[in-house]
Amino acid sequence: MRSFEYHRPQSVADALALLRANEAAKLLAGGQSLLPVMKLDLAAPSDVVSLAGLRDLKAIRSEGNTLVIGALATHDEVAHSAEVRRRIPALAGLAGGIGDAQVRNRGTIGGSVAHADPSADYPSAVVALGATVETDRRRIAADDFFLGFFQSALEPDEIVTAVHFPVPERAGYAKFPHPASKYAVAGVFVARTGGGIRVAVTGAGPRVFRLTALESALASNFSPSAVTEGMVDPGDLRQGGEASPEYLAHLVTVMAKRAIQACL
Ligand SMILES: Cc1cc2nc3c(=O)[nH]c(=O)nc-3n(C[C@H](O)[C@H](O)[C@H](O)COP(=O)(O)OP(=O)(O)OC[C@H]3O[C@@H](n4cnc5c(N)ncnc54)[C@H](O)[C@@H]3O)c2cc1C
Repeated sequence: MRSFEYHRPQSVADALALLRANEAAKLLAGGQSLLPVMKLDLAAPSDVVSLAGLRDLKAIRSEGNTLVIGALATHDEVAHSAEVRRRIPALAGLAGGIGDAQVRNRGTIGGSVAHADPSADYPSAVVALGATVETDRRRIAADDFFLGFFQSALEPDEIVTAVHFPVPERAGYAKFPHPASKYAVAGVFVARTGGGIRVAVTGAGPRVFRLTALESALASNFSPSAVTEGMVDPGDLRQGGEASPEYLAHLVTVMAKRAIQACL
């Protein structure tokens, strides 16, 4: 790991000023994705701007029919939050299934969405629940946020401050975890809301994506029997990984059935 300057600002404004003053600066939240890439020399920031002093960004609260989770809430805090468990139990379950205890105690929801890892769990919930990512300057709809492989709509100097989740009528998540890391080899989040049904897949593709064929089928038959093998095109899935695209396509259908079952 290369040497760097460490900063611990006490406000979002100060964090932004540090980012703007140092072009090669990086934000640090839980460090569970940034530190491994720095250790591998895949990132070498001149300055590391810790968000640890921004305690306000840890809050979890309800605003009417929306659950607002501060960017610095750890996976463990989301998993154990009474509010999350009461309003979107599938989201609490998802957070509780991330990595191991150390990762859950350090890693944050803001860091996870900003990193846009194609195998991360949260992006599937953000997309399926039609969430909105709040930053220091705007709100970004889930469908516009995850743009590609480790690529989000965030500007280099933009800070995620919270994620707003509309509370669904029912939701369920199922993943086939990688046996070592627990990242999703394939994960499916299903949400039924007053506005319709949304299904998002993580792990299997180059980025999180919606399974619109299944969304349509579930509209008339909300049961695992709505899932068919032909709904997932292996050509759209990750090539050259540990699992073949055909195997991933099958895994997605199995996880989809489990996620729907969890909603019933
Ligand atoms: C062994 C291991 C197992 C794991 N298993 C899983 C798993 O099963 N499922 C899963 O989903 N994830 C898994 N992870 C990843 C973990 O969830 C990370 O915590 C998460 O991806 C990143 O969150 P962080 O708070 O640690 O962010 P950091 O590592 O601190 O930052 C990640 C990136 O996001 C940027 N960033 C951080 N916070 C913000 C913000 N508020 N605004 C803008 N940019 C920001 C940083 O600059 C950096 O580029 C695993 C990690 C490890 C090490």
